[in-house]
Formats: sequence, structure tokens, C-alpha cells
Amino acid sequence: MTIAIIIVAAGRGSRAGGTVPKQWQILAGKPVLQHTLAAFAGFGRIITVVHPDDFDRAQAFGAQIVAGGENRAQSVLNALRALEGQGVTQVLIHDGARPLVSASVIEAVLGALQHGPAAAPALPVTDALWQGQDGQVSGTQDRTALFRAQTPQGFDYAAILAAHLAHPGNAADDVEVARWAGLPVAITAGDENNIKLTWPADFARAEAVLKGRDMDVRMGNGYDVHAFTTGDHVWLCGVRVAHDKALLGHSDADVGMHALTDAIYGALAEGDIGTHFPPSDPQWKGAESHIFLSHAMTRLRTRGFALSNADVTLVCERPKIGPHATEMRMALARIMGVEVERISVKATTSERLGFTGREEGIAALATATLVRA
Ligand code: MG
Repeated sequence: MTIAIIIVAAGRGSRAGGTVPKQWQILAGKPVLQHTLAAFAGFGRIITVVHPDDFDRAQAFGAQIVAGGENRAQSVLNALRALEGQGVTQVLIHDGARPLVSASVIEAVLGALQHGPAAAPALPVTDALWQGQDGQVSGTQDRTALFRAQTPQGFDYAAILAAHLAHPGNAADDVEVARWAGLPVAITAGDENNIKLTWPADFARAEAVLKGRDMDVRMGNGYDVHAFTTGDHVWLCGVRVAHDKALLGHSDADVGMHALTDAIYGALAEGDIGTHFPPSDPQWKGAESHIFLSHAMTRLRTRGFALSNADVTLVCERPKIGPHATEMRMALARIMGVEVERISVKATTSERLGFTGREEGIAALATATLVRA
């Protein structure tokens, strides 16, 4: 199988709004046509059919370019002819304004072409169908055996070239040409997201689909321990808690906030507190921990993320955390600039086992989830 892909993008239609044809409008930061070409990368050589006025900008995408004709069928024929004598055995013909076509839709068409001369994706019609006139339903239509056609439509190259050459012209799509020539056309699975961008609302939907595909969720964990020393209070998650000991540390020894800060750095794969605030640097001696946490949040936002949630667990026998947990959540949320419902602070004892059980110090664990903003 030597496959060529023809992307038909010569139309001048502007029902989608805007001042440029829809295949040149910007979708999620780049022209629609560029998304479409990317969807076919690796499947075969690509020929793009564009209006002669668009040659310059199409050149930037690297694919072979062919001039469009008077109508869609003529544009396809121009591309088919450009492929003559190059050993192409199968060809996929696709609308430039369908940028969301998935690899599985393409693969299904290619798979069907191993068993027949033509195949195309479609979805069965599930809504009831009506005729309408003057705002009134004037009739109903049986939807049995009706399908909504999509692209890419795939063909034996020689067969579809011959069919186009013989066809009287102006077919709605290439399946119509193939059937006119007597080729059996297999129906393969379409995809609801494989929409043809036509109306302004289609662009909003396409952006949402692309955003979902690009979803970037990251998790990080943090762990910290500080030993007790003499004193009369501890700082935990931004709250001063009276206690008969203090926590020993280079800064204010807020073990919970340190674990949380490291969880955020961890999710960003940007080291830990020590990476950004070296303990060897005297300017951070005694620094309040909210400086570290604020810095981690700035890094998070600079990298284009938002904090989805964070969960901190303090491990100690005393002081009792429960009475302060809400205040701790509020303090952290304030420093981090997020809603309090995204922040959890809870505690456990270690059943008097180990260093926390012997009340030699406090341990803290934290998890943070980041999502691409
Ligand atoms: Mg620490």
C-alpha cells in the first residue's frame, strides 16, 4: 500500500464568520489547516489543494500544494492528477475544515481499503428527521439506514481517478463519484468530534475538544520532618499553635508548609525548597515559610498551571491538630491564592510508634495536583 492524502482546502466559504476562509482561521493558536495536516502526519504523503491566493501561506506547512479548481470535484481531480505516475495505490481525500479527525477514524478507513476499493467514515442518524416549511414541521422522514458522511474518504487510487475523469462533475463528495462509477463503498466508524467547521459555534466546540486532548494533569508529593526543641509554640500550616515544645529548623520550621511547597515543586519537576532557597544562603535563615509557598505558586502559574487541590497530613501525637485544621486550610488558601475547598489539612498519630510516637518531632506529607490552566 502506498498511500497519498489529499487535503481539500480551496473553498472560500466564510459561513464560519471572520474575514478569512474557515480553513485559515485560527483554532487553538494555529490555522485550522495546520491542525488537519498534523492529524495525517505519518500516514502517507500529503497533497494540499488550496486557492491560488493562499499558495504563500500554505507553503509554510511543508506539504505539496496543488491549485484548486472551479468546485470541490475539480479540486480533487487536480490533486489526483498530480499524483499520477508516482506509484500511489490508495488515496484518502479529506476536508481541510475537519481538523479533529482522529487516528482511529483514519486507520479504520485504511483497514477497509485492504478489502475493497472504497471506504468512508459515517455516523448513523439518531435524531428524528423532519421536513420543515415556514417554521412548521411539514413532514417526517424515516431515518432507518441513514448516515451522516464524514471524511477521509478512501479509495483505490486508479479507480477513483478513472471515476473522477468520467464523472460529469459537481458531485457533493467523492463517495458520490465512486458510487456513480459502480465502486462498492464500505462504511467505517465515524467520530462525533470529526466535525466540519462550518459555523462560529463549531470553533468553540473544536477548541474545547483540543483542550481536552491536551489535558495536562500533574501530581507531586512532599515529605518533611522537624525535630522538637524547647519552646512554647509551633508553626503548622501557617498557624501559630501553642505547645510545650517548638520545632527546630533553619526557618520557622513549618513542617506542613514545607511538605506542601515541595509537593508543588515536585509536580513541576523543579526540585525542592532547598533548590530555590539554599540553606547555605544566610538570607533565608529564619525566613517565614509563606515565602517558599508563595514562590512555588508563582512558579506554578508561570508554567501555565492552576492548583486543582492539595492535601496535607501532619503526623504527631501532640499538639492536637483537629481544632486548628480549618484555620490552617484558610491560611494556606490565602497564601496560595486558591479557594479553601481545594486545600485539605488533616492529621494522624503514629500510635506512639517511632520518632513521632515518642514525640521527638513532627512529620508531614503533602500531595498537590496541578492542571494546565
Ligand atoms: Mg523543612
